[in-house]
Amino acid sequence: MNQAQLTQSIKSESNRLGFDLVGVCPAVAPNGFGQFLQWLEAGYAGEMLYLEERKEAYRHPESVLPGVTSLVMLGMHYQTQVPAESELESKPGTGRIARYAWGAGDYHDVIHAKLKKLKKFVQSLDESLVVRGVVDTAPLLEREFAELAGIGWRAKNTLVINKHSGSWFFLAALLVNSELEYDDPIQTDHCGTCTACLDACPTDAFVQPHVLDATKCISYLTIEHRSPIPVELRPMMENWILGCDVCQEVCPWNRKSPLSQQPEFAPLEEHNPIELRSLFDLDDDQFRARFRKTPLWRPKRRGILRNAAIALGNFPSSDNVASLCKGLNDGESLIRGASAWALGQHQDSAVRPSLQARLELETDEQVRGEIRSSLEVTSS
Ligand code: SF4
Ligand code: SF4
Repeated sequence: MNQAQLTQSIKSESNRLGFDLVGVCPAVAPNGFGQFLQWLEAGYAGEMLYLEERKEAYRHPESVLPGVTSLVMLGMHYQTQVPAESELESKPGTGRIARYAWGAGDYHDVIHAKLKKLKKFVQSLDESLVVRGVVDTAPLLEREFAELAGIGWRAKNTLVINKHSGSWFFLAALLVNSELEYDDPIQTDHCGTCTACLDACPTDAFVQPHVLDATKCISYLTIEHRSPIPVELRPMMENWILGCDVCQEVCPWNRKSPLSQQPEFAPLEEHNPIELRSLFDLDDDQFRARFRKTPLWRPKRRGILRNAAIALGNFPSSDNVASLCKGLNDGESLIRGASAWALGQHQDSAVRPSLQARLELETDEQVRGEIRSSLEVTSS
């Protein structure tokens, strides 16, 4: 089988397995490595220390697969039918989840299973080929390579946009130790004069076009940030409890994005939006049983309940109080602190006895500070 035939076979099989976008590029040192280092240096990665710890590995895909010569870059749509805007934004006691996480399955599992099949297929064509499939977790500047493989351009919102698919797709890569036929890189930025994503970001997280300060981004805050969320950012999180879609929702290139064909990404009614108050009734085992296989597992119970408390605090209602009082007495200080803040946002003197009772028991200084602030707010 010659290079062109091998490339075509891999592309056809990728499509057959459910990858909607496929492009191939050489495994070279990515041009954006220097910018990546500058971004880390500026502190924009926040608590994502794993990026700093293995930053050298991003210098060349060789770190992911020794001897690699080609990268097959893959995209899989995750756009699904969107519920009514009113459902998502204003239903009391509910939270929003980013679109990629509406389904029952975690995309890592779905894509890994397909990459495994693709790898097997490639090795069935030539058993001497060494192949590795990766999604998200390997030290690879995937967006750089997606651009190089002709999948799309790196847009002002830092995501890859494909002219036909928009940006609602996951990226994955198959690394191969064989030369293949390469696609033309995308060299044109089709964002033009548009700044819709930069203008719409609720937390003003873009330092400039193409540069995101992750420490301000709701996706980072709700998923990767493991400690209390900075007080000044909490109101801007509105009712997002896992991720944020705003900079994609406003993008004109997403107006006609195709829907996903993967049944695993079909929206679960209970995630879309998600009822928040009942989450405070779940202990560790119940939380695990409900979310273990979904993307909501990544921030764990402590992260999700912290986010849920903030969302309830941003939309005060007397119906929230009982759940937040449960959160105020949770075993996790992260949840207690966020719940104390959220109770304060209710500006209702009726919550004071619960805050005072907790203050008498509380030993965590950070939580004590949150309780005192809320007592101040509710006394005035
Ligand atoms: Fe801003 Fe949300 Fe986009 Fe993050 S995901 S940059 S918070 S709009
Ligand atoms: Fe580019 Fe506009 Fe889309 Fe932002 S909203 S990514 S500027 S086209």
